[in-house]
Amino acid sequence: MIEFRKTGKVAQLHDPRAGFALTGVPSEVRHDPLTGDTSRICHFSFPPRQLPELGALAEGTRANCPFCPERIEQITPRYPESLVPGGRMRRGEALLVPNLFPYDDVSAIVVMSHAHFLPMDALPARVIADALLLARDFICIAQGQLADRQAWGLVTWNYMPPSGASQVHPHLQVIVTDTPGNALRRELAAESDFLARHGVPYPRALLEAERAAGERLVLEESGIAWGAPYSPCGLLGDVQAVFRERATLAELADAEIEAWAAQLARIAAAYARLGLWSFNLTLFPDAAGERSGRHWLTARLLPRLYLHPHLYNSDAAYMQLLLAEKFAMVHPERHAADLRAALPP
Ligand SMILES: [Zn+2]
Repeated sequence: MIEFRKTGKVAQLHDPRAGFALTGVPSEVRHDPLTGDTSRICHFSFPPRQLPELGALAEGTRANCPFCPERIEQITPRYPESLVPGGRMRRGEALLVPNLFPYDDVSAIVVMSHAHFLPMDALPARVIADALLLARDFICIAQGQLADRQAWGLVTWNYMPPSGASQVHPHLQVIVTDTPGNALRRELAAESDFLARHGVPYPRALLEAERAAGERLVLEESGIAWGAPYSPCGLLGDVQAVFRERATLAELADAEIEAWAAQLARIAAAYARLGLWSFNLTLFPDAAGERSGRHWLTARLLPRLYLHPHLYNSDAAYMQLLLAEKFAMVHPERHAADLRAALPP
């Protein structure tokens, strides 16, 4: 049912680094086992990555931060009482407020911590869990706003500026929408086709195939499996968590969210040990009330970086943004092995 398909390519050139000897340079095109979308795995050369002075970056942005405790109550908006009694929601250190620049009918921000900066090698599992529990509770309330439409409760996290984050202070975006984005819409359509064709949900078939292959799984605990996707999307790799037989965040019990948060803290620490300091994270849920069983909730983490420590050039360019072609410089099998080796206990 699952086919891991790839095509090898070889470019011929006279290589100045080898006395202009005729050299074949291999690259690879992989096909996503669900959608057939292609991604490339190529060699590239760039200067060694340097960790910036993150303490200085944190200090330099603190004075104007809208999310620090001394400013947040005055600067952030409140919801109408009819949606959120009291206007804002709290859990532990997390505070949920409307997004002042909304993306949709229902668009919120969860400011995760009192701390202005949380280093990636020490993200507190409790802080992540409380933020996600708050997002879940808000989605449950807000999806009633879309009474006559399908509703997807999406949670995303841009951590630190290379990911596109405009604030250092840790925060999630939450939207409840009937328009969940092209990637998720196409994925769900492909999963419906897969279920109709094979009588088995794609995520179940994929997990069994990945267990049999063995080389791309990173961590499997508490009904959640983490692995590097066969068809990668990050320049330096990416990883996804799959929640077994859960389709939406609203279906998760507190203990499941707490288990995932602890795992995410370890995965983030593993990336920090690999020299990375920024990521995008997105939950891919099904619509509320979808009963087909076609989809399992996934969480995808994409490490982001500046390619050059002084140029600050982005790791996303025409290939990803205009050609919609994923592009990697690390094989997922190697990436999974690196993550397993770097994963703290
Ligand atoms: Zn702050």
